[in-house]
Amino acid sequence: MHRLIEGVHRFRAEDFGQYQSLFHRLSQEKQRPHTLFITCSDSRVLAELITKSAPGDLFVVKNPGNIVPPSSVAIGPNSTAAAVEFAVAGLDVTDIVVCGHTQCGAMDALLTGLAAPHQTPHLAGWLELAASVRNLLNGPYANLVPAEGRAIVAAEENVLLAIENLRTYGVVRERIEQGRLRLHAWMFKIANAELFAYEADRQEFRPIVPRT
Ligand SMILES: [Zn+2]
Repeated sequence: MHRLIEGVHRFRAEDFGQYQSLFHRLSQEKQRPHTLFITCSDSRVLAELITKSAPGDLFVVKNPGNIVPPSSVAIGPNSTAAAVEFAVAGLDVTDIVVCGHTQCGAMDALLTGLAAPHQTPHLAGWLELAASVRNLLNGPYANLVPAEGRAIVAAEENVLLAIENLRTYGVVRERIEQGRLRLHAWMFKIANAELFAYEADRQEFRPIVPRT
């Protein structure tokens, strides 16, 4: 807690000045983020930092494994489903990014099981929403993906599953059909902070900033 409080003091003293007028302006109007950014709760994945976004730019959802439940299973209270509906129907975002990442603990747990599932029943149930990714890795991909690449391939497939699941929301489908909303599958490589975007025609994730 000490580090958090110290950070609050340092933000006020060192950084707030450059944001003061922006925050004041943002407080005077309705928020208008251009993108719903869904990524993992992982402490190493900072949506605003890696996209150089400012306050007001991104509507961010972080959850373990950046999972998006399909509309059909999100009938009960579900914060990610609620955020998707609010961002699209209420905030008119024009883009939704689902961003997975390397070294994802949720993907490891999805593939190898949780250490103590009886202590984390909500987490166990949450990860099961991506069970089809595990089935893919254990089934059709079993002999295609080397052991060290399994978690990364799972993270990529999980992002593509989330994109597929986003399309099960009526309001998302409607906006896509109207040409008012686009979906993007991204991956973040922690080791060198590199972002990749899925290119459907090539069926692969490629660096957003071309390598030189
Ligand atoms: Zn993660």
